Amino acid sequence: MQIARTISEIRKYVAQARAAGKTVGFVPTMGALHAGHASLIEAAAKRCDYVVASLFVNPTQFGPGEDFEKYPRPFEKDAHLCESHGGHAVFAPSADEMYPRKNLTWVTVDKLTEPLCGQSRPGHFRGVTTVCTKLFNIVGADVAFFGQKDAQQAIVIRRMVADLNMPLEIVVCPTVREPDGLAMSSRNQYLSPQERKEAPVIYRSLQRCAELLDAGERDAAKIVEEMQKVLGQTPALRTEYVSILDAESLERCDPIRGRILVAFAGRLGSTRLIDNIMVDTTAK
Ligand code: AMP
Repeated sequence: MQIARTISEIRKYVAQARAAGKTVGFVPTMGALHAGHASLIEAAAKRCDYVVASLFVNPTQFGPGEDFEKYPRPFEKDAHLCESHGGHAVFAPSADEMYPRKNLTWVTVDKLTEPLCGQSRPGHFRGVTTVCTKLFNIVGADVAFFGQKDAQQAIVIRRMVADLNMPLEIVVCPTVREPDGLAMSSRNQYLSPQERKEAPVIYRSLQRCAELLDAGERDAAKIVEEMQKVLGQTPALRTEYVSILDAESLERCDPIRGRILVAFAGRLGSTRLIDNIMVDTTAK
């Protein structure tokens, strides 16, 4: 397992892999790795000869009062998980290595970053698109792997790569869940035992939506109302949004048609949780 702390080190490792004729896969993460991240590393190892995972808690995507400082950073455990799922190198730079001076150059994606998490986390997506651009330029991978768990992020990154002709392919992998349906997240470890017990209500509300769609319901407002009834069973959960949007444009879609994103964000205690499902209603 190769560990790179600097940009020149990871560039050297990737250049060596390239010189040996290897294709390069890349999995950007903030660390505190779990089975969801492991699935991305495995998908990368299946598709590419040499797999780099980055572990970087990116300060520019956190707003004031968010959990940047307390975000877990279990480096040894992460490096081990990465290796045991087929990773070849870990890129774990410091914030100074990534941002040695005040950043004056930003990558922004319009429109797609406005709804959903764009509403409650101003500046978040600008941080994500900028750091991903930097990481793509540093690593120079053929393929980068993202999780459906962060659906809006995946949609934004795909569009950025297409609009700016970035020379890599984006692959989006399915959300990995706990047995009770809770989407795996590094932030789940913030939950108290009671909150952890209640958290699967989020997935139950998404399943309720899938049932209604299966039964032919196409009235988005009605479906959202039904989902809110399910979520309401857990008074401790404070919903930020439940939205049904077109999966490509992220525009409102009522009555529902085509491929849609059904997305939730909310807080259990102080922990912010997101989840979603993507449904193709043309096939139904
Ligand atoms: P993060 O470390 O939270 O920035 O996530 C890094 C990558 O892992 C992103 O592409 C996420 O979408 C993906 N990811 C996080 N949780 C999951 C999950 N439960 N299933 C699949 N991918 C995930």
